[in-house]
Amino acid sequence: MNRGMTLYKAYNDSSSIDLAEILAESLGINYERATKLLESKSTRILRYKNIRYIALRRDLGNHYEGTAILIDEKTGEYRVVEGYPHIKRVLLLSKAVPQHFVDWVIVEEKMDGHNVRVIKFKDEIYAVTRGGYICPYTTARMRHEHGKSIENLIDAIGEETVVAGEVVGLENPYTRYYYPEAPEWGFFIFDIFRKGLDPLSVENRRRLVEEYGLRNVPLLGKYHKDDWQGILEVVSNLEEVGREGIVMKDPYYRVDPLKYTTSYINTKDIQEGMKYPFDEGHTFIYPRVLRQMFKAIEDDWDEERLAKEAQRLGEAILVTAVESVKRFLRGMPIAEEFILTFYNMRDFEDFVSHITLLGVPITIVSIDQASENYIKVKILKHKKTPEYYKRILRTGLSPLD
Ligand code: ATP
Ligand code: MG
Repeated sequence: MNRGMTLYKAYNDSSSIDLAEILAESLGINYERATKLLESKSTRILRYKNIRYIALRRDLGNHYEGTAILIDEKTGEYRVVEGYPHIKRVLLLSKAVPQHFVDWVIVEEKMDGHNVRVIKFKDEIYAVTRGGYICPYTTARMRHEHGKSIENLIDAIGEETVVAGEVVGLENPYTRYYYPEAPEWGFFIFDIFRKGLDPLSVENRRRLVEEYGLRNVPLLGKYHKDDWQGILEVVSNLEEVGREGIVMKDPYYRVDPLKYTTSYINTKDIQEGMKYPFDEGHTFIYPRVLRQMFKAIEDDWDEERLAKEAQRLGEAILVTAVESVKRFLRGMPIAEEFILTFYNMRDFEDFVSHITLLGVPITIVSIDQASENYIKVKILKHKKTPEYYKRILRTGLSPLD
């Protein structure tokens, strides 16, 4: 079955669109099972303008979580956008790299933002998040910044193309890290899939991205799989400049990519997370301590380095958390604040209803008509953490043990 794009013209008016039939055909399952899935927590049915879509909230058959099935309400045509595959993490480069790869390893920078798949459907481009949702903000911004170039790129490769990349910078509602090359908003491409999840080779992808005036994630080198020390050297350079890490790829994707992160980001993430210990904080700690444990072994940290990293880790956890409680005691908000740029009010309203529908509690702090052409909106994303603080400070009891 052709999974990349199935044009399905059975329906002419929106009221007769049968989502179960579309889901059944997309996943190759029967109608009853599709009906059950639509009623369960495994899927979500949403809308963006005149597109209805089904987001898969877990792996189903051979489709990953985050797969989105877009349906044109007018015609009933639909298209399956496959979920972005999980990338396995390395703890020991010296073991994993020589065992996993075939011969050569391309090292690209792992940028820290959020994963976006851009596709074209019925003459418009859409930005789909990792979870399989069309983000109204990211879609509007993508169209504004790169709409024409991405359309041209997709037209050149084929209509079923998926352009996957990292959106980075401070102006997004998901993950904010400052990048000098994209302080506010930037899209850096790391994969192009032709049909389903069939990737272009690294070289072809990088060439095409450049040719169409778009940006690639930085290329950090090509190493033989036995030269894990060369790769480690790349990581220590990133360490110095406070970048996230690397993704290692076979030039032709004969084997899956692997990821590895710097000690800097392992601790930095804990620090960010511990501003909200009952939200991100507690889930962040253990996996990152594990990464640091094996880095200390592989890099053979001396006593001084170990002591330094231990201090950084301890501060990231405890000092950040204590400051967070103190903020609460002073009556300051325990919430993430961020700024987004919108080019019209309609996009802004679409974004607010989308994020609210997903159950993310936000407050609009201010709307600033920054110029004739755009508005800057300041938003607060609320956390569960202050509720926990309130209860602990009232009862004196631990919610854990
Ligand atoms: P998962 O563990 O399921 O992959 P995650 O959100 O925890 O999801 P990360 O630890 O951030 O994932 O690592 C994988 C993600 O890294 C990819 O989904 C992608 O968004 C991002 N990424 C950044 N740079 C690259 C790159 N050069 N190549 C591939 N992915 C990249
Ligand atoms: Mg990431």
